[in-house]
Amino acid sequence: MRITVLAGGIGGARFLTGLRTLGHDITVIGNNGDDVTMYGLRICPDLDTVMYTLGGGISAERGWGREDETFRVRDDIGAYVGASGTDDLPSWFGLGDLDLATHLVRAHWLAEGVPLSAVTARLCARWDPGVRLLPSTDDRVETHVTLAHGERVHFQEWWVRLHASVPATAIELFGASEARPAPGVLDAIAGADVVVLPPSNPVVSVGTILAVPGIRDAVVATSAPVVGVSPIVGGAPVRGMADACLAAIGVETSAYAVARHYGELLDGWLVDEGDKADADRLNEEGLPARAAPLLMTDVDATARIADAALSLAADVRK
Ligand code: GDP
Ligand code: CA
Repeated sequence: MRITVLAGGIGGARFLTGLRTLGHDITVIGNNGDDVTMYGLRICPDLDTVMYTLGGGISAERGWGREDETFRVRDDIGAYVGASGTDDLPSWFGLGDLDLATHLVRAHWLAEGVPLSAVTARLCARWDPGVRLLPSTDDRVETHVTLAHGERVHFQEWWVRLHASVPATAIELFGASEARPAPGVLDAIAGADVVVLPPSNPVVSVGTILAVPGIRDAVVATSAPVVGVSPIVGGAPVRGMADACLAAIGVETSAYAVARHYGELLDGWLVDEGDKADADRLNEEGLPARAAPLLMTDVDATARIADAALSLAADVRK
């Protein structure tokens, strides 16, 4: 089967490690909302997390960046921060030394005019992730967050520097109105046998992919069943701060509320076995929903989650 997955970083990449074992033809539409330019380098954290995770290069401990990494360059930049008397160097953002190689190569190709989708394909030629990885768009987009007192900051500043500790009142994909889906994205949605929304952040991963004009409409229009896996288990994110993102857009942190937020996009929804009441309520309201263990503890457990998502898709298709 041709399966198209709209994936963020860690949650999406983990899910893909399980899905990949089931032997289908997988296209991943990655999130560009996290993208940012620092030190003149275009950084695409979610694309890299998918590429490194599936390519066997991810840091198992951190879940982002490279295994066997060192941070000599970052630490040396720190010496300039202290000495220069300025605080505008983003020394809080961790780019390891090996990771810098990826960023130098990406910057080189982008500067030569190679579109991000082609750059991503070239980077993946080394990592051989076993899926086709597409950015949501070749155009420049990034998520901006409005803080409670009105200041607007880049998503990375809110997430990494402030740890989402300051409440947000709005989250939007800056540049979206000018952006177009990357080559292959709309075809991958229209031509899929199943479209999956993995347990990725509904706001700043899946939400920002859907915010690229044309993608949401394509997901609504595809004849493929669209099934989602809840990233919220027992009323909380399994890891990360998705609750802060959901609060910013006025959505309750529950498996039920995330399904309702996706609304007409979904043909089926998987919740954790402990959230069976959420599934019952959704079924009563007409959305096919099932409960299954949703903790991605290892590749086998994750493959069972992916399998449950595909069997739900097969049943809703009938
Ligand atoms: P990010 O870009 O690195 O934040 O990663 P994603 O957006 O792809 O995924 C983040 C989401 O993954 C968070 O909201 C977590 O709750 C969810 N998540 C992480 N581990 C698990 C897990 O084992 N099971 C489920 N159901 N969700 C998970
Ligand atoms: Ca992310």
